[in-house]
Amino acid sequence: MSEYKTRAEMEMDEARTLAPFAQKSGDSRGRRFAELSHAYRTEFQRDRARIIHSRAFRRLEYKTQVFLNGTGDHLRTRLTHTIEVASISRTIARALRLNEDLAEAIALGHDLGHSPFGHSGEEMLAECMREHGGFEHNQQSLRVVDLLETPYPNFCGLNLTFEVREGMQKHQAFYDLPNKSAEKYRCPSLEAQVANLTDEITYYSHDLDDAVDFDVLSFTQLEDVAVWRRSAEAVRARYPDLREPDLHKLLIREIIDQEVQDVVATSAAAISEAQVHSPDEVRRQEAPLIRYSDQLWRENQDLRKFLYQNVYFHPRVAEVNRRACEMLREVFDAYLRDPTRLGDNATRRIEQEGLHRTVCDYVAGMSDRYLIDEFQRLRSPAQPD
Ligand code: MG
Repeated sequence: MSEYKTRAEMEMDEARTLAPFAQKSGDSRGRRFAELSHAYRTEFQRDRARIIHSRAFRRLEYKTQVFLNGTGDHLRTRLTHTIEVASISRTIARALRLNEDLAEAIALGHDLGHSPFGHSGEEMLAECMREHGGFEHNQQSLRVVDLLETPYPNFCGLNLTFEVREGMQKHQAFYDLPNKSAEKYRCPSLEAQVANLTDEITYYSHDLDDAVDFDVLSFTQLEDVAVWRRSAEAVRARYPDLREPDLHKLLIREIIDQEVQDVVATSAAAISEAQVHSPDEVRRQEAPLIRYSDQLWRENQDLRKFLYQNVYFHPRVAEVNRRACEMLREVFDAYLRDPTRLGDNATRRIEQEGLHRTVCDYVAGMSDRYLIDEFQRLRSPAQPD
């Protein structure tokens, strides 16, 4: 045995301990630009590190999830949301004997393309780009890892494996396969399906948490929500004397736990029923196998509707975001009028990508606070030299 654990040994561990339908790192379809393998890291572990060490990942710290970044110390940011998605993805992947490293890498990369100012920011960017190819954050996440991050001298992008990119494509068709195979697939790997569903579980639970913390939601309103009600019953049975603010913290934990338990049990049954024995058999399925039970699916639909009605467009959220979006539009237009304000990297892309797309990439990459600073710089009169 060698003095340290080698990549080959890790790959053997995967083959021995993961389910047959899990995506093994040694079976990866590889990277666009060929690279030598690493002595003691698997391909998916390398992708996870590439994402964590990217600039776009660090900027997630100052991007809004729902409540404008900086509004409250405990509210989620795009970064803490991402870390929660990664954590829950690992839990589900491990329980189902899937490849945790792959699920985690996809989860960590899934929101890299998010614009500043949350969903309102995305809508505003889409509006700015209406005549120029549009804007959508999942597609943008792929642009970030394929084009906009430039840590290597020989090519643009992070050169991620097919499987991590497949997971980041999310709502798009999953047939972007290398030429080796003419086969069209309908579904991504189970690890990608885990990361996608976990994104929902995570925001359902933390948006409720933040909304209660921020006094946008009251307990009385929440009694109408089945997911909340069931968790409240379970927590009150265990801790009859517990009151706010401790009560809702436990309730949120309970919601996550109930959702995760449901997904693990339902998915395990679906996988067994589908009799899939390889990741490509998973990809040939008509519909994802990682799923909620029918009852929880319906309840989550109601919860989602409730969040839209009572949180995302609540005046305390929407009004702030609306003002932020006006800044975004103004900054976007200022770059169109004067592209010399763009950074050097962006300026080099104008010829290839066109001015609108270059400005869109630049603005989408900004953190909330950078955009607000830039807005103020644009508004303040030029200083004499
Ligand atoms: Mg997300």
